[in-house]
Amino acid sequence: GVIGSAPHKITEAQPSSPPLPRQNTKTAPPSPPSVIVDKTKNIFYTRTGFLGEGGFARVYEVKDDKGNRQAIKVVTKASLKTKKAKTKLYAEIKIHRSIQHPNVVKFFECFEDSDNVYMTLELCEAGSLMETLRRRKRFTEPEARVFMIQVVGACNWMHSHQIIHRDLKLGNLFLDSNMNVKVGDFGLAALIENPGERKKTICGTPNYIAPEILFDTVNGHSFEVDAWSIGVILYTLIIGRPPFQTKDVKAIYKRIRDNMYEWPVDREVSVEARTLVQRILIQDPNDRPTLYDIADDAFFTSGTCPSFIPIMARDSMPNFS
Ligand code: ADP
Repeated sequence: GVIGSAPHKITEAQPSSPPLPRQNTKTAPPSPPSVIVDKTKNIFYTRTGFLGEGGFARVYEVKDDKGNRQAIKVVTKASLKTKKAKTKLYAEIKIHRSIQHPNVVKFFECFEDSDNVYMTLELCEAGSLMETLRRRKRFTEPEARVFMIQVVGACNWMHSHQIIHRDLKLGNLFLDSNMNVKVGDFGLAALIENPGERKKTICGTPNYIAPEILFDTVNGHSFEVDAWSIGVILYTLIIGRPPFQTKDVKAIYKRIRDNMYEWPVDREVSVEARTLVQRILIQDPNDRPTLYDIADDAFFTSGTCPSFIPIMARDSMPNFS
């Protein structure tokens, strides 16, 4: 395994160019070169498009010199000035490159030039489930079964390798060209190095964050936080918005604490789907089902579970009957 291998050394950016006017540096970091070169392996990547940006990275589509299409995640060295930022990126790289599962975004290479750190990743052509949900408004239960099984499978692999993702949400679930789910963004993932170890850092995304992360700062949290997020994901897939969603973050946290969510009355949701969400969104992490329990739930056997989802489902409701 690659866990434990030393991360690439990241050197400080050279002060080669004069500083840009303040507003420029803030709003638009300079674009990476149109041909990005991995000097140590002598691989050339030609930039062919922009895929998106997150908290600290921009992601582009590239073609390598063999013509393979990939995604490249670019982190500017300017954003890695603090020790904390570097440690965080090293952790992400170390964890992500150690994962090999068909439903996890593949991590190919990591290298740097004078300005940026680059990670080449499996290209997920159909974008994230967040964007797909925006177009579709909501998914059918057969689709939710397929997406959920893939997420639970990937997450189970991580847990059996002592990795907690800690930021499972629709925006971090990507789709490849065959509508297979690929879990991505390991920026908040944690490796549990000692059995029974509990994490104390408050992290996650408000809508998907487990109650013990917010309210149990004494005991901390562990693997069960991913199960919680998976419950939130199931509700969000079939209803179209997260269960605890509301205007301000404080109110979201209050709802999470009080387990306050509703099923819209005008929506047809199967008893099995409701029951599974209720089983998962349990305040006490010790009482929450494990990923095995979730995979065994009646929801997955109570209706159609298609062997794949057609590409047209990116834009409109498929018919599985
Ligand atoms: P950050 O860690 O900064 O939040 P992300 O990993 O979430 O960055 O990526 C930011 C955006 O880039 C995503 O929302 C998505 O639109 C796009 N993206 C990331 N990884 C891929 C990929 N492997 N294939 C296609 N698009 C991607």
